[in-house]
Amino acid sequence: MIIGHVGVAFAAKSRWPRIPLNALLVATFAPDILRELLGALSLSPWEATLYSHALPWSALLAAFAGALAWVALRDRTAFIVVFGIVLSHVLLDLISGNKPLWYGGPRGIHLGMVEPVELIIETLIMLAGWYRLRRNAAPSWLKHWAVPALLVVVQMASVVGSISQRPYATRCLVSPMGTCSGSSLLTKSWETKPFW
Ligand SMILES: [Zn+2]
Repeated sequence: MIIGHVGVAFAAKSRWPRIPLNALLVATFAPDILRELLGALSLSPWEATLYSHALPWSALLAAFAGALAWVALRDRTAFIVVFGIVLSHVLLDLISGNKPLWYGGPRGIHLGMVEPVELIIETLIMLAGWYRLRRNAAPSWLKHWAVPALLVVVQMASVVGSISQRPYATRCLVSPMGTCSGSSLLTKSWETKPFW
């Protein structure tokens, strides 16, 4: 999940305007940031995902991020908000991915396998947060329609990436809801080298 997490940060900013949006964005992506750091420390992708997205480590990360926000902003509410936002990442990832909630625990429903549906759900979450923020104390640049439009483009790029990469290279825009017959752009199978 990508822009769905941004929607959570937008919604939180509208509810708690004193917390900087930057801090909320870092909080909403904290498990992904930690996973990249652990990957850079040469942990395997599975270990990096486990120690960043699964309990109890994700809860420890949430508590650490919340404590940082509490100290930096001298605001106890910031601890609770940031703690909740970091954990919201783990819960939302259970919709899009199939990571375990804890080692050996229940796994996500992996909606990311149905890319068009995930695109719609993430767009709706993002728009819900953006509309809330737009009605409240949003900075003027954030009120521009180009912000959600750009976020949808980012998500669509991720969809293209996930369809075109192995082991899903035989998938197409309508998969798995339709068969990839190759007769149109919607049913054309892609295969590219990952560019990120
Ligand atoms: Zn994640």
